[in-house]
Amino acid sequence: MFKKNQSLALLFFTHVIFGSENLPVIRLAPPRIEQEYIDKHVTCIRPGRNGRFNLAAEIKDNTLLVHNYGASGAGWTLLFGLVQESINQLESMIEKNPIYQNQPVCVIGAGCMGLLTAILLQERGYNVRIVAEQIEDLTSHTAGGFFSGNSSLKNAKTVQEKNFVGNVWIESYNFYKSIAQGLHPLFSKDCARFIPYFVGKNTESYIEFYVGLGLMQPPLPVIIDFGTGTQREMKQYSTFFIDVLKMMERMHDLIDQKNIDIQQQFVASFDDVPESIIFNCSGLGSKELAGDDQVLPVQGHLIMLKNQPTLEYVIYEEFESVDQNGNVIEDYFYYIPKEQGLLGGTFIKHEGSLTSNHHEFARILDRAADYFGVK
Ligand SMILES: Cc1cc2nc3c(=O)[nH]c(=O)nc-3n(C[C@H](O)[C@H](O)[C@H](O)COP(=O)(O)OP(=O)(O)OC[C@H]3O[C@@H](n4cnc5c(N)ncnc54)[C@H](O)[C@@H]3O)c2cc1C
Repeated sequence: MFKKNQSLALLFFTHVIFGSENLPVIRLAPPRIEQEYIDKHVTCIRPGRNGRFNLAAEIKDNTLLVHNYGASGAGWTLLFGLVQESINQLESMIEKNPIYQNQPVCVIGAGCMGLLTAILLQERGYNVRIVAEQIEDLTSHTAGGFFSGNSSLKNAKTVQEKNFVGNVWIESYNFYKSIAQGLHPLFSKDCARFIPYFVGKNTESYIEFYVGLGLMQPPLPVIIDFGTGTQREMKQYSTFFIDVLKMMERMHDLIDQKNIDIQQQFVASFDDVPESIIFNCSGLGSKELAGDDQVLPVQGHLIMLKNQPTLEYVIYEEFESVDQNGNVIEDYFYYIPKEQGLLGGTFIKHEGSLTSNHHEFARILDRAADYFGVK
């Protein structure tokens, strides 16, 4: 176990100086991280939930409620599967309760879940509108955007639950694949692309499920040489980079084109919504709105880079470190090619404040300097 104040460089990197292994060596340019290359610091909150996301339909006080929230750090990854399954749940509830047929729908939330839900519902002939407390500068905009799962599959207990969650994962993979191949009817090819994904030797990639199904290539052990005198042993996969800003822009365009009403409004209670069908895509708002104690904010910090070309790879390494209070925490480091590149990240559970923990930015930069050997 590592002690407080122990150097992260020691914590994280001493075991990965190589060179003599008989592995392919891949030369990668590192990002520039000196002061003039730092654009801005971003703090945002993942809408987490203990166990896994809540994807469920219920009838409460005569309202048909479909919940879709709590995907934490994989909301973009699992977007399509979650939205599609939530619509399937609506339709199976309507089949059992025909009184809800042809009733107008209100979607609460204008993040990626709410927007895609409204678009797909409208395409299926529903009369739908969106209400959201906030429409711009959401977690859905600030997210990095690399495609990798989360613990939802691992946490699924029964075979039935595993199949259900697995389906969400597969549908989501197929969605991005069709976008990346330029085959998707709604999203253009520049919204998602397949890029190299380098994962720490001992880090879980969260895409092994897809490898097991033959949808993604198995990992190739490699040595990465940053040309700085630093080499790292990693596993090379490929995954999607999701351009979340383009996706959000495109979804807003579709909402305009389809004349879907979108209003900025805080919803204190489902009773305040006149529609008898509600999709709850309120992310962290579900703690109050749905009275869900399992909702768990997870604070993240990102450093956006500037004045440099975007590097076409994702790097991800997970490790344990020690926080300011001496607690051992799950921690991770990543580079994602969003805009001109970003460095992350932190994973601070139960921290729901958008006030930055400034020391976290310094930690991310220290890690990046050590990692790429660009001190
Ligand atoms: C640092 C960071 C990096 C990330 N990187 C990735 C990544 O690389 N890949 C990935 O897959 N995922 C990533 N994520 C996770 C992803 O961003 C989220 O899971 C996803 O954006 C959640 O979307 P959402 O629509 O559920 O929630 P949000 O985008 O949070 O939207 C919630 C909406 O609900 C509204 N709302 C809430 N309460 C109310 C209320 N009471 N009344 C009315 N409206 C309400 C809000 O105003 C908002 O419009 C990252 C997240 C963070 C923080």
